[in-house]
Amino acid sequence: MMKDIATPMRTKEILKKHGFSFKKSLGQNFLIDPNVLGNIVSHAGLSKKTGVIEIGPGIGALTEHLARSAGKVVAFEIDGRLLPVLEDTMSPYDNVTVIHQDILQADLQQTMSDYFSEYDDVVVVANLPYYVTTPIIMKFLMEKVAITGMIIMMQKEVADRITANPGTKAYGSLSIAIQYYMDAEVSMIVPKTVFVPQPNVESAVLKLTRKTTPLAEVIDENFLFQVSKGSFVQRRKTIINNLQTSLPEGKLKKELLVEKLNSVDIDPSRRGETLTVEEFAKLSNALYADFSS
Ligand code: SAM
Repeated sequence: MMKDIATPMRTKEILKKHGFSFKKSLGQNFLIDPNVLGNIVSHAGLSKKTGVIEIGPGIGALTEHLARSAGKVVAFEIDGRLLPVLEDTMSPYDNVTVIHQDILQADLQQTMSDYFSEYDDVVVVANLPYYVTTPIIMKFLMEKVAITGMIIMMQKEVADRITANPGTKAYGSLSIAIQYYMDAEVSMIVPKTVFVPQPNVESAVLKLTRKTTPLAEVIDENFLFQVSKGSFVQRRKTIINNLQTSLPEGKLKKELLVEKLNSVDIDPSRRGETLTVEEFAKLSNALYADFSS
């Protein structure tokens, strides 16, 4: 077996051989620690019957670990300069396909049917480009891509917000949007020193697992997210005050808002941060007919 890509020495060699220079704007912080990679892969619970979608393979540090453990890896890389590098580093693996595309532009349903129809399950595993963490996660969830989970490295602060419970400072619309679909837990805190170049922030590996039964059926997921965002516009204000200003019809129909809040047993004087995800789901259904535009 080849030496791991993710050692300081080998990474340096590869970067030098291909004359590669990092682009900060693309969130390029490459992993150089095989232990962290081993840990990520073990949390992903891979087998040869599992397919993996990777976002941002870089020079292939994580990709090669995935290729060894999973049946098939499809990796989306936005930076064309990395394609010849990956062709070189991934040459020992015949189960890796690299697609030169911005993941946010990708047709993920097509990807699922083109590459993964014969696999038992598909997971997303990635050391994400931090500048697009949230849009990437939300794309997979809102487009209802049939993945069973995600094991993703991100800024620790974002992982804390995603996993936060009601009543805490970190709890907000991001916690609600993601916990509506997935169970979320931090698998590992990762120091800056395992990357080159080192990011400015602490990192964490987050594990998202699809909920077996949905928390609550909502009429319109976008409206749920609009209501939850609108409830946190000014954290210290009551939910009624926030909804009055954030919903287009809110100011005109204060009494109706109060009535709807009461109808789902939510005291209008509570703060948004005290509502559970289920309460937000019920509330958005109650408001839908009169307040969605
Ligand atoms: N997986 C590699 C590793 O762990 O060493 C690299 C991870 S690095 C944090 C993020 C990678 O995502 C970079 O290779 C970057 O070029 C790529 N990237 C950035 N934005 C992207 C996008 N919108 N779609 C696909 N890849 C992207």
